[in-house]
Amino acid sequence: MSQEITSLPAMFGRDVFNEAAMKMRLEPTVFCAWKNCIAEGKPLELWVANAIAEAMKQWAMEKGATHYTHWFQPMTGVTAEKHDSFIVPAGDGRVIMEFSGKELVRGEPDASSFPSGGLRATFEARGYTAWDPTAYAFVKDGSLYIPTLFFSYTGAALDKKTPLLRSIDEVSREALRILRLFGDTQTKRVIASVGPEQEYFLISAEDYAKRPDLRMTGRTLFGAAPPKGQELDDHYFGTIRPRVAAYMKDLDEALWRLGILSKTKHNEAAPCQHELAPIYTDANTACDNNQLIMEVMKKTAEKHGLVCLLHEKPFAGVNGSGKHDNWSLSTDSGKNLFKPGRTPSQNAQFLVFLSAFIKGVDEYQDWLRCTIASAGNDHRLGGDEAPPAILSIFLGDELEAVVESIIQGTNYKDLEKSVMRIGVDVLPSISKDTTDRNRTSPLAFTGNKFEFRMLGSSQSVSGPNIALNTIMAEELKWFADQLEGAQNFEEDLQKLICQALTEHSRIIFNGNNYNDSWVEEARRRGLSNLRTTAQCLPAYISEKNLDLVTRRGIFTRTEFLARYEIHLENYCKILHIEAQTMIDMAKNQIFPAASSYTTTLCNAIAAKEKAGLSCRAERTLARRLSETTDRLFDRCEALEERMTSLPGSAQEQSVYYCEVVIPAMDALREEADRLERMTDKSYWPYPTYSDLLFYL
Ligand code: ADP
Ligand code: MG
Repeated sequence: MSQEITSLPAMFGRDVFNEAAMKMRLEPTVFCAWKNCIAEGKPLELWVANAIAEAMKQWAMEKGATHYTHWFQPMTGVTAEKHDSFIVPAGDGRVIMEFSGKELVRGEPDASSFPSGGLRATFEARGYTAWDPTAYAFVKDGSLYIPTLFFSYTGAALDKKTPLLRSIDEVSREALRILRLFGDTQTKRVIASVGPEQEYFLISAEDYAKRPDLRMTGRTLFGAAPPKGQELDDHYFGTIRPRVAAYMKDLDEALWRLGILSKTKHNEAAPCQHELAPIYTDANTACDNNQLIMEVMKKTAEKHGLVCLLHEKPFAGVNGSGKHDNWSLSTDSGKNLFKPGRTPSQNAQFLVFLSAFIKGVDEYQDWLRCTIASAGNDHRLGGDEAPPAILSIFLGDELEAVVESIIQGTNYKDLEKSVMRIGVDVLPSISKDTTDRNRTSPLAFTGNKFEFRMLGSSQSVSGPNIALNTIMAEELKWFADQLEGAQNFEEDLQKLICQALTEHSRIIFNGNNYNDSWVEEARRRGLSNLRTTAQCLPAYISEKNLDLVTRRGIFTRTEFLARYEIHLENYCKILHIEAQTMIDMAKNQIFPAASSYTTTLCNAIAAKEKAGLSCRAERTLARRLSETTDRLFDRCEALEERMTSLPGSAQEQSVYYCEVVIPAMDALREEADRLERMTDKSYWPYPTYSDLLFYL
């Protein structure tokens, strides 16, 4: 880190063309035009774009940038960038540096190699990127990064940002209608806020390089359990070791320079596992930032001789990594709409937001489930480390009692004596500390926000937040539509809240979600339990979901169907690579290792016999090794065999991978791990779990 920066505030956002930088470098008229564009969503005029581009280029060049790139988020789950230098020939053999408004606002990368789910015919490979002026540009590695949307020739979204921005607008629009009903005439925008907590593993780069499975798939496909795992709980919140501390310091500084509010860092439950949490911000920025965090985590690790693993389950038998998506809505003046509040009208408004959320999550539980489905996350959900694949909401005792009394109140049909009338100050003020300490819930109310805990560590957070925003918009609309013309506002409000809570209270569960009895209980309640990605993807494109996303203008029908195709393909490709890597490792490394060691034993047996020594141990071991090697061989052949008879359609393939290929992979692993336990370590081709997890 450069020496000239002495304080954190001076360092923070140093590489970002943020509002402060713009204010300093733009003419007031240009700056105002940009501000208006953000506030009202109006397109920028070309002269404004030109002026901003020029200022941006100057600023970026002072930071050492020679290139610019439109930075976007295609459906690969990672970000994409293509760099163009600022150079333009000056005619006399020299160059000048230019960057126009046109280049700022629009780009035309070849889109043919990005997943489109059939949205883009190959003859029309063009894709377009368009500047998102609501997200700040920044300088990284000698390039000016311009956050952009990515879409096809026909205007179909090919990225994760476009639908996210649509959903952000939509939930703002519907939430404003509710606020107006409660007399708020001031608020211009409601902001979806997101704070994603990111888990990750750090292992040594040397070990990583020796494991084809880690290099090819991001997780270990083989590996016997080490003598010590996480059972002593001595890692969680434990002292951070110097090498990791140095990494975290570098990481923080790199993120702060990029204007990312990195706040919390600590060791997680598993050995080598850590967590970083930024301070929450608006959903669009939070999604961009989370992509950057993941990228910078990986790059910083390289500098420290480490590798950062973001896979959901790098190691069997120890906790995997997830991401907690803290989500809330607030007004543009910073009032949190999920804060229970003290005055009656605030309580009633809070209850609208709360019951809309409960209703929405219950109605669209399948969609939410689908947004976090991936081959990697399938290893976590339902284990002892992550919630099961069943959606439910944790409210905490106090709030659940409130909900309960609203429901009971109307059931008695006795409004005079009802336990609860909305508009009366009955809500106890909820102190944050008394709410969530239930760590097992997939979706917990934590004082003034919801914490969606099912996300996988490597996934983009945009999908789940698109769903949360859209579902919320839909339900707020349901309230607003009926309340705007209400004869008796208070009575209708009471009725609607009660109806929403009564019909959807089955989604509320305050118990331990890790208990087997919950699975049974959830079944009785009729909650869906789509255990695997292959099982849940068809639900993604149910008519109900399609209807919702098209009605709310988040996706067109074709866009949504395309995303389903991409998810399916992605799932199948990951399993294909994993299975092939396993076959490769089993045949070319594990089998030869076990076989060599057996041969060594046999030689020892021969030598010992000649010398008249006992060789009972060698014999027994050699026999066991030999038998296990045979089984390894058979199971490898069986997996290969299964890989040759894949069904035709992507949908059928996903089920086939899940039900036929994965069990064969598990069976193969079992024998390999058995061999690992029997084989002399010097013969074993890879670092073991003990090496990988306890290297420090
Ligand atoms: P923990 O979940 O470990 O108890 P916190 O609840 O303090 O930690 O915060 C976790 C994350 O939630 C942080 O990123 C924090 O900024 C974010 N967060 C806090 N308040 C809100 C909010 N109103 N909306 C969205 N995210 C929030
Ligand atoms: Mg948390």
